[in-house]
Amino acid sequence: VRVLTVNCGSSSLKYSVIDVACAQEVVTGLVERIGETFPDHGAALDAVLAAEPDLAAVGAVVHRVVHGGERFRAPVLIDEEVVAQIRELAELAPLHNPVNALGIDVARRALPSLPHVAVFDTAFHATMPPHAYMYAVPREWHVRRYGFHGTSHSYVARAAAKLLGREVHELDQIILHLGNGCSASAVQRGRSIDTSMGLTPLGGLVMGTRAGDLDPALVPHLQRTLGLSVAAIDEVLNKRAGLMALAGANDLREVHRRIEEEADREAAIALAVYCYRIRKYVGSYLAALGGTDTIVFTAGVGENDALVRAKSLAGLERLGISVDDDLNAAGGPVISPPGSPVCVLVVPTDEELEMATQAAGLLAGG
Ligand code: ADP
Repeated sequence: VRVLTVNCGSSSLKYSVIDVACAQEVVTGLVERIGETFPDHGAALDAVLAAEPDLAAVGAVVHRVVHGGERFRAPVLIDEEVVAQIRELAELAPLHNPVNALGIDVARRALPSLPHVAVFDTAFHATMPPHAYMYAVPREWHVRRYGFHGTSHSYVARAAAKLLGREVHELDQIILHLGNGCSASAVQRGRSIDTSMGLTPLGGLVMGTRAGDLDPALVPHLQRTLGLSVAAIDEVLNKRAGLMALAGANDLREVHRRIEEEADREAAIALAVYCYRIRKYVGSYLAALGGTDTIVFTAGVGENDALVRAKSLAGLERLGISVDDDLNAAGGPVISPPGSPVCVLVVPTDEELEMATQAAGLLAGG
């Protein structure tokens, strides 16, 4: 069966057609700068469908939705009620869920005879126990940790097991998804038991433009001392913090270039902060799991940046963790020396394939 995947970002539309049986991407495309190139996501999708008739020759459409809240713990078949609930969850994900819901509306209107499925970034982490997802704040606030990038963590955990010739439920793993957004997860025998992002995708690791973990008192402090509004602080923490704030660039390739070519001290410190945060999460998930079988790097940085991989895990030999320079430079999949207690891997993520596979599974009654 072929499945059309739709991933609507704030100003982009990413799509692909996946042949699930042979795990092959048949078509893939990206429309960027919607708003300049097309009036809205609807017009962009109409144009894409008109230009690529293959896109409609599928058995189902699967949509990426960022926040599934407490309600959505697995993929669901979309109906009016599901779309309404996705819209309600916009309170938790104002940057993402409204545009995800819009993409669903547009695609359902364009392809009304096909089943549409929603896959949620939070779903894989729905297995976290209360001691991992609770914040120590009043219960009536109704806030908790959810975690994101679940589609990627789920895919990569299984792909790593497959590479090792093992079943995912035989292994404990630490997954490091390092892209524009970054998150770590502790995966015990195939189930997520903790992850670094929280109520929203702002928490945890240092990211391209997001701060990651902070002292929450920083917000009232900035209100008092600089007179900044909560909205202004929120905007900075999401869009102008992280590597962007520390190094003046959100792309690690540029951070490395500044270090190498300009001996830029601020860029060097930014890289050190980024890698130290990863190391701290690896340490805490080693404790959460009581030891791990694998540490897996994935996404744009994780798959390509040998220096980040080496720096994040340097000097952890006493914990059974080491990275071999040559294997690391070659890009893996295995980058730890043969016989290491912890197998360190580089595994490319494939969120589209995972979405299509989950949708096909749901529709087949699995
Ligand atoms: P997204 O989180 O948007 O899906 P990706 O997983 O594709 O993004 O990661 C994008 C990021 O990966 C870029 O911002 C860049 O910092 C980083 N990246 C891509 N290629 C490299 C590379 N060769 N070396 C270091 N970083 C890279």
